[in-house]
Order: sequence, then structure tokens, then C-alpha cells
Amino acid sequence: MAKKLCKLAKKLELKEIAAAARSGDFICSKCGRTASDKKSLCRPVGVEEL
Ligand SMILES: [Zn+2]
Repeated sequence: MAKKLCKLAKKLELKEIAAAARSGDFICSKCGRTASDKKSLCRPVGVEEL
């Protein structure tokens, strides 16, 4: 996946972001987006590290 989900987050509804967060293993420390693939985030941090 080449595109950063972070850029897409601006267009997403909050509900969709929340839904993604439930299954996300990583969260972007810069913009708060979550994803199961850290490569999709610009500054990924494991959710269990927070
Ligand atoms: Zn980001």
C-alpha cells in the first residue's frame, strides 16, 4: 500500500476512524490515524506502546 492513510483520514467520518481504530495495531503519533499496517502511517507507533 503506497498511499498514506493519514492523508485519507481528512476525508473520513469519525465513525470510520473509530472503527478502524478497533482493528488497528498501529497509530500515527503525528495525525492520530490508525492502521493494521504501520507502512500506511507517516509516524507509526504500536498502540500497545502507548
Ligand atoms: Zn500520520
